[in-house]
Formats: sequence, structure tokens, C-alpha cells
Amino acid sequence: MVGRSTTDVKCVKCKNVYEADVVDHIDLSEDRDLWRNLKAGKANRVQCPKCRKVQYLNRSLVINFEPENLIVVFDPAARKKVVRENHMKDYESVVGFNETLEEVGNETEFKIVTKKEQLKKLVADYVKAHG
Ligand SMILES: [Zn+2]
Repeated sequence: MVGRSTTDVKCVKCKNVYEADVVDHIDLSEDRDLWRNLKAGKANRVQCPKCRKVQYLNRSLVINFEPENLIVVFDPAARKKVVRENHMKDYESVVGFNETLEEVGNETEFKIVTKKEQLKKLVADYVKAHG
């Protein structure tokens, strides 16, 4: 299931503040309709309803590459070591929650991706294998 939330975005062009629907979590095996956007690098893309200016939000997105046993956190801000460490800690506290998750965690590769190009490549490979 896609995890969605809304967030306030300030347009970089006209300064209009608007509410945008954003995706926090994607399960690729279920959310096939999002493959094309991800492959095109359109993660975290929002558009101002007033002036149509497109911008990309600096927020993290969790992508589950089921059945590849791969979980990717896409976060442009994770070039900083402290941000990366926080993601790692979050992940460890989630999989440490119970035994089932811990098993999943042991079999699952956890990857932090900061570059859009890198994410596009991962999704393209996934689509090739499962499309
Ligand atoms: Zn605008």
C-alpha cells in the first residue's frame, strides 16, 4: 500500500503556500502505477496550483522492492552522515520490534540512496525483472 500524507509546500517561484499530496512509502509489488513516475525520477515531485511551477521536495521516501528483499530509503538530504545514521537507527528499531520483523530484517538489504539517478536505475532494473 502506498503511504500518503499531505504537506505544506511554499512555491519557490510565486511564494504561494499550498497543500500537496505526497508519498511516504511505496511497495513496488503493489503500486505498479507508480513505476513509471519513479523510473522517470519523479519521486517527491509537486506542482504549484497557481503558477504551475514544478519543484522537488527534500523529503525521504521509503521504497520496498518486494520480492527482491531490498528496502530503499530515498533521501536527497542523506548525503550528510548524521541523516544516514538516523535512517539506520530507525530501520533497526523497526526490525527489532519483534521476531518476525527481525527475521525479515536479517534477510533484507537496507540501502540509502541520495541521488535520483541511482533510484531511477534501481527501479528500471526492478521493472525489467518484474514488469
Ligand atoms: Zn507558484
